[in-house]
Amino acid sequence: MSEKRKITVAYGDGIGPEIMDATLKILFAAGAQIEPEVIEIGEKVYQAGVFSGIRPEAWESLRRTKVFLKSPVTTPQGGGFKSLNVTTRKALGLFANVRPVTTLNPFVASKHTMDLVIVRENEEDLYAGIEHQQTQDTVQCLKLISKQGSEKIIRYAFEYAIAYKRKKVTCFSKDNIMKLTDGLFHKIFNQIGEEYPDIEKEHRIIDIGSALLADTPEKFDVIVTLNLYGDIISDIAAQVAGSVGLCGSANVGDQCAMFEAIHGSAPDITGMGIANPSGLINGALMMLVHINQPEVAENIHNAWLKTLEDGIHTGDIYKEGISKKRAGTQEFADAVIERLGQKPGVLEPVEYSREIQKGFEIKVSPIVKEKKVLVGFDLFLDNDKLIPAEIADQLKSLENEELYLAFISNRGLKVWPEGLPESFCTSHWRCRFKARDFEKGISPDEVWTGIKSAVKLGLDVIKTENLYTFDGKRGYTDAQAE
Ligand code: NAD
Repeated sequence: MSEKRKITVAYGDGIGPEIMDATLKILFAAGAQIEPEVIEIGEKVYQAGVFSGIRPEAWESLRRTKVFLKSPVTTPQGGGFKSLNVTTRKALGLFANVRPVTTLNPFVASKHTMDLVIVRENEEDLYAGIEHQQTQDTVQCLKLISKQGSEKIIRYAFEYAIAYKRKKVTCFSKDNIMKLTDGLFHKIFNQIGEEYPDIEKEHRIIDIGSALLADTPEKFDVIVTLNLYGDIISDIAAQVAGSVGLCGSANVGDQCAMFEAIHGSAPDITGMGIANPSGLINGALMMLVHINQPEVAENIHNAWLKTLEDGIHTGDIYKEGISKKRAGTQEFADAVIERLGQKPGVLEPVEYSREIQKGFEIKVSPIVKEKKVLVGFDLFLDNDKLIPAEIADQLKSLENEELYLAFISNRGLKVWPEGLPESFCTSHWRCRFKARDFEKGISPDEVWTGIKSAVKLGLDVIKTENLYTFDGKRGYTDAQAE
C-alpha cells in the first residue's frame, strides 16, 4: 500500500459534519492511506467577518496538499458574502466539475435508467458574479465565456469519454439566443469534436436537453456544458436518479482537485442524524482514484452498492416495499463498513480500471492573433422621462463625419427607429453609434468625445461597450427586431 497521502478536509456546515464523520469512518475502515489536515470554512468564518468564508491559513493547507475533501457549506444571503465554493474552484483553477449519475434500480427507486456523467465548466459564465445596478429599476450580470475556458472543458469531456470508455458526448448550450457566448462554446465543441472521430457527438439546446434528461436520461452518456446549466442539470439528473443525496462531484484542475457531494448543507435536516452520506462517499471515491488508491475505492464502492442492494436506506431514498431498513447517517456508514470486501449480487460490481489513474493532460491551443477594429460603441443611458424619439433627437447632435446613431434599444429590443408603442421600456437604454466607414473604423477618442458630449447634454451615461470586428467578423450582436 502506498504512503499516507495528506489531504485537506473541511467539515462544512449543516449536515456537513455528520456526513464527513460517516465518510471518513468508511475510508479509514477500508484502509485508505490518507492523513487529513482539517480546516475551518463556511458559516463560522463568514460570521467572523471573512467575506470569502475561508482564511489565509486554510489556503496554505490547500496549496500544500492539493487535494480537498469538502462537506457542503452554507452561503449567507446578501451582505457582500461570496460563495466559498465558487471562490475555491476559481482560486485553485479547478476548471472541470465532473458529476457522474447512475441509477440503481430496483434498489433505489427511479422511474428511469441512466448512467451518465455531467462535465460542467467550473470557472466562467454568470458565476463570475460580476453584477451591477446602474439604474433604479435594472440590474445586470455579466456572462463571460473564453475560448481557452471552453476548449479546456470540452477537451476534458472528450478525454474523459475516452479514458472511461464512453461513447457519446452531448453539448448543451443556448446558442439560439446567446449567439456570441453560448455560440462560442458550441463552435469550439464542433471544432474539438473533429479530433475525436470515434466518439459520437451531438448538440442540444439546453431547454429541450434538460427536458430529455428528465424524460429519457438513458439517451445521454457524457454531457458537457456551461457553468450555470451544468449546476442545474446535475441536480435534475441526481433527483431523477433517486435523490440529490446520492451523487458526488470532482472539481479538477491542472494542479489541485476538490471532491464533494453535489448537494448543499440541508439546513432542514441538520442535526437529525438522517442525512444520506452517499454523495460525499461518492466524492471521496473519486478522490481515492485521483490519489492513486483505486483498490480502496473499488472496495468501498462495491460495499456501498451491496448496502443499498440489501435495502439499508436513508430516509431520502426509503420506499415501502423496496427498503428493508431505514438507517440514520452513521448506521448507514456502519452497514457499508460491515460489507467491505463484499460485492453486490444483482447490481453490476464496479472495477476501477488502471488506465484511468494515468489521468489526462489538457492542452489548450494558442490564441491566433486577429485584426481588431473599433467600429462603434453602445452608449448606455439611465433615463426614466424621455421617450425613444426624444432620446434620439438629443443624441443625433453627437453624429459627425465618423459616426451615426444606428438604433436605440431597451432590454435588447430595438425601440428606435420604428419601435412599437406597445413595447414596455425600463430606464436602461442602449444607444448604438456606428462607424460610417466600417473598414476603417473609428479612433478610441470618438468614444470619449461621445460620452463627454452626451454628459454635456445633461444625459446620464451609465456605461459604454465598444463594438469591434475581429478579422472582419462582428464581435457584437444586433438589437432584436433590428
Ligand atoms: P440542499 O441541497 O442543501 O437541500 C435541498 C433538499 O435536499 C433539502 O430538502 C435537503 O434536506 C435535501 N438533501 C440534500 N442533501 C441531502 C442528503 N445528503 N440526504 C438527505 N437529503 C438531502 O439545497 P438548498 O436547501 O438549496 O441549500 C442549502 C444551503 O446549502 C444554502 O446555503 C446553499 O448556498 C448551500 N449549498 C452549498 C453547496 C456546496 O457547499 N457545495 C451546494 C449547494 C448549496
